[in-house]
Amino acid sequence: MYHEQDALWTKVILNKYCSHLRMRLRDPEKLPTSPNWKAICLGFPIFKKGIAWGIGNGAEISDLYCGQQWNWDLVSFDLPHPIKDKIKAIPIQLHGSGRDTVLLKFSKNGEFTTSSAYRIANKGEEKVTQFHGQWIWKLDILPRITNFLWLCLHGSIPVKGVLAERGINCDKVCPLCRDHDESIVHLLRECIIACDLWSKLEVPPSHMNSFADSLEAWLKNNCLSNVSYKGSIPWCFLFVFAVWNLWKNRNEVVFDNSSPNPTLDNVCLSQAKEYYYCVSKAKQVVSRAVIVVKWFKPPPGSHKLNTDGASLGNPGKAGGGGLIRNSEEGWIKGYSRSIGLKTLTNYFAPFLLDCKSLMARLTLVRVAHVLERQTSVLIFLAKKGCCMREDFVVFDVSPSNELNRLLVSNSNGMYYYR
Ligand SMILES: [Zn+2]
Repeated sequence: MYHEQDALWTKVILNKYCSHLRMRLRDPEKLPTSPNWKAICLGFPIFKKGIAWGIGNGAEISDLYCGQQWNWDLVSFDLPHPIKDKIKAIPIQLHGSGRDTVLLKFSKNGEFTTSSAYRIANKGEEKVTQFHGQWIWKLDILPRITNFLWLCLHGSIPVKGVLAERGINCDKVCPLCRDHDESIVHLLRECIIACDLWSKLEVPPSHMNSFADSLEAWLKNNCLSNVSYKGSIPWCFLFVFAVWNLWKNRNEVVFDNSSPNPTLDNVCLSQAKEYYYCVSKAKQVVSRAVIVVKWFKPPPGSHKLNTDGASLGNPGKAGGGGLIRNSEEGWIKGYSRSIGLKTLTNYFAPFLLDCKSLMARLTLVRVAHVLERQTSVLIFLAKKGCCMREDFVVFDVSPSNELNRLLVSNSNGMYYYR
């Protein structure tokens, strides 16, 4: 609505529900409204909570920022330094001509997305978002089994008990034993078919007690187990294939009219072994690639700008730095910039617009990502930016001897391994 203020639909809604006539009435909120307007009213506080200004030309927001500097003298009182640092960390468009615009704080490009709005809406309401199954995503297993476990923890496996609870007209009786209601726990642990499988597999003694725990604790205890199964594969691999096969076996009985597989234990064991030895990361040799890091001269007649950022902690003071060199490796200009307090703000739209605007002014330009060492010229300049009081400083010559030494090692074509 904000971004389409001139659209017909926005005008219709605003004229209908925000008209002077309506606002003057005693209790406008109690007047009849459409479901759309009700939804907008409900969503507006969330929208307000999540927005921040993205500064374009500064016309609508700030007179404080002029000529790449914050002009604090324009404020009639002295702002505390932590506040100034937070203000300085606001991403600003320096070169683009875009107008100031509202951005959504929690999305990377500042655009509104339903998922980011959902996150904002849920913030502070732990009960809604509380989910203790993050460990699932770290398991070294097939993605479809990961999804299955995730559904188990959410109580969303469509066994008959779950379907009946959700209002689907079906009987709750377990299709395997026809003796009890079919719940997720029954399917995986209590049904005669499940009991038979676990007894044939011979659960390690250290995990026997977990079979009396809640479904969540039981799954976690066994999936994260370090115990070895009869001296061969880890128990956790066999366990996840066992719960997965119990579900698959049940579906074959229900949908293909087949009988329960009497050798399910062998199927689970062979699948777990195959996965462990052929696919799992546990058996893969991790090879670390050594990358050579070196500064390369730009082609004759051109210039190269290398730039990087650094922060002293997170959250912590942040800075940026850069250096323009030519093909003779000469220092053309260097700079350091103080960015203020690094926060969780992560929208890059103002920077990207600036880069595009600057690149459009150059006839021939190439952008590339290069690897840096932790003690490079750029990190030196960026760290200088973290600590300095000024917003932006340009260096016509190298500002320190330490930097000179780093520059010399760059010029000599030193290689570093990373
Ligand atoms: Zn059963």
